[in-house]
Amino acid sequence: MELIFEKSRPGRHGVSLPNNDVPVEVEIPDSLRREKNSGLPNVPEPEVVRHFTNLSKRNFGVDSHFYPLGSCTMKYNPKFTEKIAANEHFAGIHPLQPQLRKGPMLVQGCLEVISNLQDALCKITGMDEFTSQPMAGAHGELTGIMLIAAYHRQQGKKKKFVIIPDSGHGTNPATAAIAGYQVVSVPSNACGVMDIDRFKEILSNETAAVMLTCPNTMGIFNPEIHEIADLTHKAGALMYYDGANLNAIMGKARPGDLGFDVIHLNLHKTFATPHGGGGPGAGPVGVKAFLSPFLPISRIVRRSDGTFALDYDQPDSIGYISPFYGNFGILLRAYAYILLLGANGLIEVSENAVLNANYLLARLKDHYEIPTGSRCMHEFVASAIRQEKKGVKALDIAKALLDHGFHAPTIYFPLNVKEAMMIEPTETETRETLDAFAQVMIELAELAEKDPEVFHDFPKTTPVGRLDEVKGARDMNVCAPQGTQ
Ligand SMILES: *Cc1c(COP(=O)(O)O)cnc(C)c1O
Repeated sequence: MELIFEKSRPGRHGVSLPNNDVPVEVEIPDSLRREKNSGLPNVPEPEVVRHFTNLSKRNFGVDSHFYPLGSCTMKYNPKFTEKIAANEHFAGIHPLQPQLRKGPMLVQGCLEVISNLQDALCKITGMDEFTSQPMAGAHGELTGIMLIAAYHRQQGKKKKFVIIPDSGHGTNPATAAIAGYQVVSVPSNACGVMDIDRFKEILSNETAAVMLTCPNTMGIFNPEIHEIADLTHKAGALMYYDGANLNAIMGKARPGDLGFDVIHLNLHKTFATPHGGGGPGAGPVGVKAFLSPFLPISRIVRRSDGTFALDYDQPDSIGYISPFYGNFGILLRAYAYILLLGANGLIEVSENAVLNANYLLARLKDHYEIPTGSRCMHEFVASAIRQEKKGVKALDIAKALLDHGFHAPTIYFPLNVKEAMMIEPTETETRETLDAFAQVMIELAELAEKDPEVFHDFPKTTPVGRLDEVKGARDMNVCAPQGTQ
């Protein structure tokens, strides 16, 4: 497919600008003027529309395909929440519109939405207070670990380490390192959860926090969570809950009751708001009351007359972590989703997410190695280690799935499983879709036995075939070809 720049021909255009009717009072200084043409392509409107429509058809999305990408919870986003977010009274709002009690209260409704969402998240998770500001899961993690660091500083305690099991999400160690801590990794035991004996050896009064993804990236709920929390608190450290996987336990167990002090959620996973392209997401952070003073500013407070205000006067706050209120459109969609489903609906979500994952696990367990046994939560990890002996790797199976219209599972993660394929179907898939996926996975396992060579050419039906991964990593060049800009 041609780039839009390659379709450009001098003199063609899609819009006609009106004559400038603004009086020129100020000459634009030469230093601010472009020296060269901006390089925008010259294309007529129908070409632009065709170009982007055709590009969009090459895309892979939840609205068109099954997307069992483990750890990412690629569930369907209901159109109802999109409709709410598109409402002009929400979509047309500007964050600088006045929120003061005196004068027009133009953003009161939006502040109420955020405040109500924060209250709902407190109920769902068992935490005391939430901030809606972080713009992604990893951003929430960083905020959470900064809160923990602020707490230890206030207590006058010097802490060095953050303990993270090797089954934690990759962003966890990155977060702890960026927040200035040394990461101590704990291996998993045969059941796929953190080895508690190793944990006890590592835990010390220099530990700042224990970061747990729960259920973890193997899809396993740690049965020793209470003991881990008790030991952690006795050592003067805090418990951090990576709640990106809340889809597995929503309405069934609350991190606040399990002994966690800080938690982030990924609204763009559990609460059915769009992911992709690096955002926009939302990773709100919840805390127990003793950490509230450290929460980022601004904070939304409910006044006694029922109106809302932004409070910047928080002397112990870690400060600003994002402008204004966070990603409002995403917060709004999540709130609408929670209201749409209600408490019982949210419980049904997690029940069906776990049921769907277990169904797929049961269908695949005779064909692929499943290192963690026959039960899982919302996702499970299969291994292509048997197929690899024939020369077919997890990557080859992932590529082959594309030819069958399925997005590949997450592969080569978690790192503690060889040839890992992490499968998360989510609750929004029908049994027919799960069966079709299982059938293809089984056929691929059989093909790997009989004819392993053919895998090296997959995918064959996608707009771009098998990429040269080595060249992609070593010789990255993402510029448009010379002469086309
Ligand atoms: C997705 C995910 C994250 C990171 O969230 P982003 O919004 O991508 O930054 C962290 N932890 C877990 C367990 C996840 O699945």
